[in-house]
Amino acid sequence: MSESEEDRPLRVRLRSDCPCGTGLSYNDCCRDFHTGKAQPKTAEQLMRSRYSAFFFRLPDYLVSTQHPDTREPSLRKELDAMLPTIMWRSLKILSSSKGGPEDKKGKVEFTAEYHEDGELQEMYEHSRFRRLRGMWKYVDGKG
Ligand SMILES: [Zn+2]
Repeated sequence: MSESEEDRPLRVRLRSDCPCGTGLSYNDCCRDFHTGKAQPKTAEQLMRSRYSAFFFRLPDYLVSTQHPDTREPSLRKELDAMLPTIMWRSLKILSSSKGGPEDKKGKVEFTAEYHEDGELQEMYEHSRFRRLRGMWKYVDGKG
């Protein structure tokens, strides 16, 4: 694949470890999900790719992977306001249930660390995912 001039600042990002914590480079991990070249096969992959999308501030991806049943019309606006205020630091998956290639629903439990206003915070969430026309979507989460 040839790289265009505007892709250049991406190079460092592509070689670096993916923020989602798999140990793979971003290029070999969440990037194809973000560009739409590939679809997450499991709920956990979607969860990880959404975390990376928060990290890289990709509101379009976050909106498109939110299940329409729980997608508020104000979501995009809220993301635009929220994304620049948070620096994500790490993601830790605690457990996954269902959410596999043959499942229609899945749950992922995780903690994520982030800096907000210079303070290190940790969030905990039990997220629910559902397939829509074959693609995993984020439904909602409980803290
Ligand atoms: Zn990743």
